[in-house]
Amino acid sequence: MKVIKHGSIGDDVEEWQYFLMGEQYYIVEGTGVFDDITHAATVDFQRRNGLKPDGVVGKHSYLKANFLGFDFSDFNPIPAKGEKKEGKKAKKKQSDANVDMSGKHWPPEPNFKGPSPALAQEMFGKIKYKSDRKGQVTLLNNWEKKNIITINIPQLNKIGQRWGHKNGDILFHKLAAPQMIALWQAWEDAGLLPLITDWCCTYSMRFVRGSKTRLSNHAYGTAFDINIRSNALGKTPPVVGKPGSLRKLVPLANEFGFYWGGHFPRRKDGMHFEVAKIIRIA
Ligand SMILES: [Zn+2]
Repeated sequence: MKVIKHGSIGDDVEEWQYFLMGEQYYIVEGTGVFDDITHAATVDFQRRNGLKPDGVVGKHSYLKANFLGFDFSDFNPIPAKGEKKEGKKAKKKQSDANVDMSGKHWPPEPNFKGPSPALAQEMFGKIKYKSDRKGQVTLLNNWEKKNIITINIPQLNKIGQRWGHKNGDILFHKLAAPQMIALWQAWEDAGLLPLITDWCCTYSMRFVRGSKTRLSNHAYGTAFDINIRSNALGKTPPVVGKPGSLRKLVPLANEFGFYWGGHFPRRKDGMHFEVAKIIRIA
């Protein structure tokens, strides 16, 4: 990662913007251009974290972000003077990565990706919509009527948090419903339900958080979020054994055609699972 500031352009800027979104600066967008909004958010972030609020993102800001759990693709933490403790932590994290299931690189990414906007539309139908300045999405065609159905996931009644659904009834895309039902059954059969602490949402007509142009896969009724309290957007999801870790759920999810947000190359979204391909359930 190189030093970036107002006026900088490129991948490093985009990555920094994803980090800021993860810190709840949702006004920032991942444009790759270090604009006024990115500058203001950076200064605010620095001020709140006891860093020099100059809007220049260098070693100290990256270190802080890394300490907060953001996994920069090209970041090699070198402890600065007086930051030995953080350096030690970073080192420990690294050695964990070599051990079986305990590191942040487990489980490995599957051999497929989450669908691009064009592919999602092809697979799940064309959503015609309009949006306002605030990014509120309003559906304009009968896509919802044609595609979104109520399905029952009985396992939702057996996890830590009981609300957010009606006795297991949730909304989902009809084409992906069989594999959603099958996945939760498989999780239960594998004894993994105790790892699920909370359930958040599936179908929601909205943009990707932080964007005002790109529809979320939640808008297609093909994504859902769990363990949201311990898997904040933009942070490295907790490793196996840590509270709220859902990494052990991922291999089965992949088997049933779901891609895990913790595998997103830039902005990690550990709470998030989305349908990447339609699986026929016998
Ligand atoms: Zn999500």
